[in-house]
Amino acid sequence: MKYLITGGAGFIGSHIVEYLLKEDNDVVVLDDLSTGNMDNLAPVRNHSRLHTVEAEVLNETVMDRLVSECDRIIHLAAAVGVRLIIEDPVHTITINVQGTEMALKLARRHARPVFIASTSEVYGKGLHIPFVEEADIVLGPTSKNRWSYACSKALDEFLALAYVRQFGVQAFIARFFNTIGPRQTGHYGMVVPRFVRQALRGKPITVYGDGNQTRCFCNVLDVAPAVIEMMDTEETVGEVINLGNDEEVTINALAERILGIVGGPSSIVHVPYEEAYQPGFEDMERRVPSIEKARRLIGFEPKLSLDDTLAQIVEFERSRLHQEEDV
Ligand code: UDP
Repeated sequence: MKYLITGGAGFIGSHIVEYLLKEDNDVVVLDDLSTGNMDNLAPVRNHSRLHTVEAEVLNETVMDRLVSECDRIIHLAAAVGVRLIIEDPVHTITINVQGTEMALKLARRHARPVFIASTSEVYGKGLHIPFVEEADIVLGPTSKNRWSYACSKALDEFLALAYVRQFGVQAFIARFFNTIGPRQTGHYGMVVPRFVRQALRGKPITVYGDGNQTRCFCNVLDVAPAVIEMMDTEETVGEVINLGNDEEVTINALAERILGIVGGPSSIVHVPYEEAYQPGFEDMERRVPSIEKARRLIGFEPKLSLDDTLAQIVEFERSRLHQEEDV
């Protein structure tokens, strides 16, 4: 198969690229390198089956040609990370909505299956744990722009499902839950690479709020094959599926576990949300996926524990400690 991966130079994208190349597929990466980085593709840079194109997903001429030349589309290009969303909300909304619209429109035009990446943010402040795909969505007010990300992704889902129903497009939608692994950058707020880098540099580990909020972290190496499995499974067309790990951890405990692995002199400090983000920032208290649907439809079972994953990330970050100063 020949895959087009938009955002293929990003963190999740680059791992999917590697997985597909290992399985003897051809891969075309389209990335504008806004948050993606060609260094992410360094391990496969010279692979004969990999082609990279630096362009925006909104460049219809380029996208049209690439879609016509590929068998399947994996659409990952999006604005990602809470920090980026707070800092550049216009870009977030525009790229997330119009980018997906472009992918779906071209999937229809060329009759190609298309994977649409959504997010657990869509559940917002939902109170029923674990989050099941059919649960109601509870978002905050439009005056708090954190919610624009969830809302833009929810719109992507609506649009994808509408393309399935109205035009018979084969669209597959996954909601990713806090996916982590080597190569994820901390620049856009992601907690694990930030904590690991802080610990490796002996700096304070910055827990936002009281640290009792929880997340479930899934290794990207568990997620990448699941994306392809979805596209290989006919019953998942037009379905929204959670992909994540259901091992729940508080951010305080996460900080302690990372400090335990890294060792060193770092202390754990608590930073008020309004200082970390902006006044009135709303966080999610708990976020846990139900992975029953993924289990049932694609036999999904995360294999890598949080401790294994954290050890992997620490090793990766340690190896590039001298390259990057910033946390
Ligand atoms: N967080 C933190 N310190 C940091 C970055 C993030 O305590 O330096 C917290 C953040 O407030 C949230 C959790 O870690 O409660 C996960 O944040 P992330 O941005 O990784 O993902 P989110 O789940 O918010 O999309």
